[in-house]
Amino acid sequence: MNQPYKRGTEATVHCSRCGAYIPGEQEWCRYCGAIQERCIVCKGTIGPEEDATKCPHCEGIAHRIDLLAWLKVKGTCPRCKNRLKKEDLP
Ligand SMILES: [Zn+2]
Ligand SMILES: [Zn+2]
Ligand SMILES: [Zn+2]
Repeated sequence: MNQPYKRGTEATVHCSRCGAYIPGEQEWCRYCGAIQERCIVCKGTIGPEEDATKCPHCEGIAHRIDLLAWLKVKGTCPRCKNRLKKEDLP
């Protein structure tokens, strides 16, 4: 019930278009140039086929499952810290 939020093993930091590894906090792929949408919870990239949602306050994009798991524990946006409920997500 009251388990602290645990992030997965490693954030998937790979280009959502070509799959190349993307180091650190870089926001674009140096191989294909694609801008990477990064999850505000796990910091991993969000591929076009993944279920994503965003914070209505700061427009930060996240994997839906990550943000739901986060909100269950924290109840606030990991980026802007505004109170957030799962009903508020688009
Ligand atoms: Zn790429
Ligand atoms: Zn994520
Ligand atoms: Zn936010």
